[in-house]
Amino acid sequence: MASDLFQSPDYYNLDELLSEEHILVRNATRDWVKKSVSPIIEDYAQRAEFPKQLLSGLAEVGAFGPYIPEEYGGAGLDQISYGLMMQEIERGDSGVRSTCSVQSSLVMYPIYTYGNEEQRKKYLPKLASGEFLGSFGLTEPNFGSNPGGMITNFKDMGDHYLLNGAKMWISNAPYCDVAVVWAKDETGRIHGLIVERGMEGFTTPETHNKWSLRASATGELVFDNVKVPKENLLPNKSGLGAPLGCLDSARYGIAWGALGAAMDCYDTALRYSKERIQFGKPIGGFQLQQKKLAEMITEITKAQLMVWRLGVLKNEKKATTAQISMAKRNSVEIALNICREARQMLGGMGITGEYSIMRHMMNLESVVTYEGTHDIHLLITGMDVTGLNAFK
Ligand SMILES: Cc1cc2nc3c(=O)[nH]c(=O)nc-3n(C[C@H](O)[C@H](O)[C@H](O)COP(=O)(O)OP(=O)(O)OC[C@H]3O[C@@H](n4cnc5c(N)ncnc54)[C@H](O)[C@@H]3O)c2cc1C
Repeated sequence: MASDLFQSPDYYNLDELLSEEHILVRNATRDWVKKSVSPIIEDYAQRAEFPKQLLSGLAEVGAFGPYIPEEYGGAGLDQISYGLMMQEIERGDSGVRSTCSVQSSLVMYPIYTYGNEEQRKKYLPKLASGEFLGSFGLTEPNFGSNPGGMITNFKDMGDHYLLNGAKMWISNAPYCDVAVVWAKDETGRIHGLIVERGMEGFTTPETHNKWSLRASATGELVFDNVKVPKENLLPNKSGLGAPLGCLDSARYGIAWGALGAAMDCYDTALRYSKERIQFGKPIGGFQLQQKKLAEMITEITKAQLMVWRLGVLKNEKKATTAQISMAKRNSVEIALNICREARQMLGGMGITGEYSIMRHMMNLESVVTYEGTHDIHLLITGMDVTGLNAFK
């Protein structure tokens, strides 16, 4: 892969809206991505291998639990710092960002928010340091967009719970040490359970042949009469709202992250347009190519403003689920469009692993589907503005 010459677009001087700490966090993450992710990621994606060695570096930059308090090993940062980290990491690769989103928002967040003090102390520091890798089991083979229908269930056996069922499409599953698993009790109410690798009857087969997120490990979580200790139930929230609360946090990170992929494609296409000569001049001098670049930077700038404002609302604990949905959907949509246009601007070179564009584009096909599909987020916005539920 060509060397990483990324220069971040900031057309509206948005750095002026950031604090010194935000800029420090962003620059440290950016430097780490340039040093540790960019040189290796294309190779890992081509071979569909999970770059496990990145876990310790991700922990060092604070990408595991950026907003979890320091007493539990987190970085104790605000939501804008979290967003900026996700932006920079996904600028490198959506798969690496997915690992962080799952670890921070889908595993550490529910343990911190819905867990008790013992659970927090037992798991959070190990997850923050990267010693433990976590996964989040919500989706099932027959229940994706409507997870409330899940059939994974547990029975109270007196001194333990007995867990049965299967989860599908689970990021980090093949390598996870712990999984936060959503399952129904005997009354049909959804609870979160912490399942640990090594528990008898718990297996995590890997999903192969993906054309997307190839540097992220995806798999199943299978529970065949798994005895889960009673102290592993997350006690402080139950019902579908519990996993959906985690998704709000992860989707917020994705809204920033997808923007990082968009920025990388725009920056690559801009540079290429100044270097590639056709008909005796740089292709960037042709109006058709300028139109593409002008539209890309316009969409990036609008999305930057949207996620920044969402970050402010999130810091004030005012961001709604529907506002987060809108930003996730918008960022991924503009990122996919920008990838496709940028790919064309590079001509034949755009399909090679010499440049990151095609990898970003394929990755984003997962990002537009997971954590609520493009359609589902539109329905959330539609329901919010009309007050009418079009889901059913
Ligand atoms: C790489 C990858 C990693 C993932 N990681 C995780 C993970 O870590 N943990 C986890 O729990 N899940 C994970 N997922 C699962 C992901 O969240 C689901 O794929 C997603 O929610 C969609 O579910 P589905 O694939 O079953 O599609 P379906 O729900 O079957 O949807 C199929 C199509 O129907 C549309 N549709 C569905 N309902 C409606 C409706 N009411 N109105 C209009 N259209 C509708 C959808 O928009 C979609 O276009 C991952 C998925 C992928 C691809």
